[in-house]
Amino acid sequence: MEKKDIDWANLGFSYIQTDKRYVANYKNGAWDEGALTSDATVVINESAGVLQYAQTCFEGLKAYTTEDGRIVTFRPDLNAERMENSAKRLEMPVFPQERFIDAVEQVVRANAAYVPPYGSGATLYIRPYMFGSDAVIGVQPSNEYQFRVFCTPVGPYFKGGAKPITIRVCDYDRAAPHGTGHIKAGLNYAMSLYAIMDAHRQGFDENMYLDAATRTKVEETGGANFLFVTKDGKVVTPKSSSILPSVTRRSLIYVAQKYLGLEAEEREVYFDEVKDFAECGLCGTAAVISPVGKIVDHGKEICFPSGMEKMGPVIQKLYDTLTGIQMGRIEAPEGWIHEIR
Ligand SMILES: *Cc1c(COP(=O)(O)O)cnc(C)c1O
Repeated sequence: MEKKDIDWANLGFSYIQTDKRYVANYKNGAWDEGALTSDATVVINESAGVLQYAQTCFEGLKAYTTEDGRIVTFRPDLNAERMENSAKRLEMPVFPQERFIDAVEQVVRANAAYVPPYGSGATLYIRPYMFGSDAVIGVQPSNEYQFRVFCTPVGPYFKGGAKPITIRVCDYDRAAPHGTGHIKAGLNYAMSLYAIMDAHRQGFDENMYLDAATRTKVEETGGANFLFVTKDGKVVTPKSSSILPSVTRRSLIYVAQKYLGLEAEEREVYFDEVKDFAECGLCGTAAVISPVGKIVDHGKEICFPSGMEKMGPVIQKLYDTLTGIQMGRIEAPEGWIHEIR
């Protein structure tokens, strides 16, 4: 298959329209059979549930080319499962998990010419999402929904190596204790936009959100989970019912324990102990791990010993091992690599 004429290494992280996307509609209590379409536009009623009351959730995963030339996705079953949980929490109908995976496969297959070649550092980002599509005016769930999957090629997250970032402790909250922080809802992002733009205006790359109830415990950033390494080489990741269960973070914990022989635990992390960690990183699909060099708490700086030039040694090992598994250079645990045939 002929690849598109794209400068893969210089792609950014922005939307590029590809050839096909998947659409299924839910009406009268059932999903239709779904189909691929060339039409990238969505036409819905002016009073659609998504427009008035933000009834929408999404997922994000990547397809890429392995060292031996296969096109694969990474643990799409976990995205399917997470989207089911998101849908239920937002009173939306569940799009069946096996159909979710089938839709992802169809979209990747139909846009195979956009899957970046091995070694380019670029990937095909896949965005499944669902929204209330019929008119509501009283506050209530929609009766009709659309489930869609599109994809867009994105560039290497770190151009010229991963430079550690600087983040600040944020005065705004991301998620309430019994709210929607644990699901991938658009609403969690809408209200984070002000905080992230404010962080950028103040010269920070990201926000560290603390738990809204006590503001003493580390939660996550707007779109990535935290991972810390203690001075004696133990991996620690915050546990909370209001953070998003990152597929990357869960995979890294497994890699730490089973591949690198490290101790790893998910537990509550108090902000007070952050200054004692040796390394810090943010994990998510886009970057796998972004190293954090410095955290600023209202003028008080925490500088990790790993510094501002490169990833710390443990985070580097975690990064190399997980990306090695993803790219087919290291044997993957059963079921992690999902080939698109
Ligand atoms: C998507 C997301 C992540 C990262 O999850 P992955 O499954 O690793 O991509 C982390 N935090 C939030 C708030 C997210 O929305």
